[in-house]
Amino acid sequence: MASAALIDGKAFAAGLRARIAEGAAAFAHQAARQPGLAVVLVGDDPASQVYVGAKARACAEVGIASFEHRLPADTSEAALLSLIERLNQDEAVDGILVQMPLPGGLDEAAIIAAISPDKDVDGFHVLNAGRLSVGQPGFIPCTPLGCLMLLKDRLGDLAGMEAVVIGRSNIVGKPMAQLLLAANCTVTIAHSRTRDLAQVVRRADIVIAAVGRPEMVRADWIKPGATVIDVGINRLPPEEGKAKGRLVGDVAFAEVAEVAGAITPVPGGVGPMTIAVLLRNTLEAAHRHAGLPLPEGL
Ligand code: NAD
Repeated sequence: MASAALIDGKAFAAGLRARIAEGAAAFAHQAARQPGLAVVLVGDDPASQVYVGAKARACAEVGIASFEHRLPADTSEAALLSLIERLNQDEAVDGILVQMPLPGGLDEAAIIAAISPDKDVDGFHVLNAGRLSVGQPGFIPCTPLGCLMLLKDRLGDLAGMEAVVIGRSNIVGKPMAQLLLAANCTVTIAHSRTRDLAQVVRRADIVIAAVGRPEMVRADWIKPGATVIDVGINRLPPEEGKAKGRLVGDVAFAEVAEVAGAITPVPGGVGPMTIAVLLRNTLEAAHRHAGLPLPEGL
């Protein structure tokens, strides 16, 4: 019998999207245009195509205009940079998202650097990473911001809590640690070279797993009552007779749920938050662009 409360990211994301839709309608009324998100996809990676399609649908549902740019895999860096420059100048575009990974030969860092920091709704530009680290307002990467929203909704004030973030990527682990630090947690970043990871995780009131290794975090790593946020999305090999394997997180859900106080499921936990926060960041970009304050509750 699982004792942990389930953190329902799907329900929370639905509520957030409803508030974004209200905010987008109010913005359209005040600014006489919809907020706009440009999504750039280079090449034909199937997973990226699914993500880009999902982002366009999510925009339409909340009243954000989406401008899709699908470019062939052999697009030159110069051509991509010139598209980004056009989008930087385009008054109808508040946010720009370049779907990663880019095909080989394109320098991801150079492409991210070319996006105007004021339209960088993914929060990947070094200026926004720096702003987060020194506590200035900027755009915050969607997945960690979504995790923080779920934590605050569940736990309220996080001050003084021990948080362990497993993973140190620029898009999840590092910004997650910065957000927890800003929320006055005592933060440890664990990674592939951490010694005695289980022992480190055992002291955490909050565990964030962002590794990409199926069901790595076990029940005996968890302090009883801890809150566990599972960012991992891993597809297991298909079982006999099945075309696709099961999706699992980085946490062994069934056994950890026996010990934790609260836990996010996979799917239905962090995943739905990422796109909802992308819409939120786009709405924020639109308000800043138009010199309007972002409505409460976002
Ligand atoms: P990444 O590969 O860039 O980083 C993984 C991190 O895990 C690295 O910092 C590495 O040091 C650490 N690591 C690797 N092996 C380890 C080990 N044995 N012990 C401890 N740490 C170890 O991955 P990422 O982009 O940060 O993504 C992490 C996971 O989150 C993936 O499963 C990814 O699919 C998922 N993800 C989900 C969402 C979402 O919307 N839910 C968004 C982004 C990423």
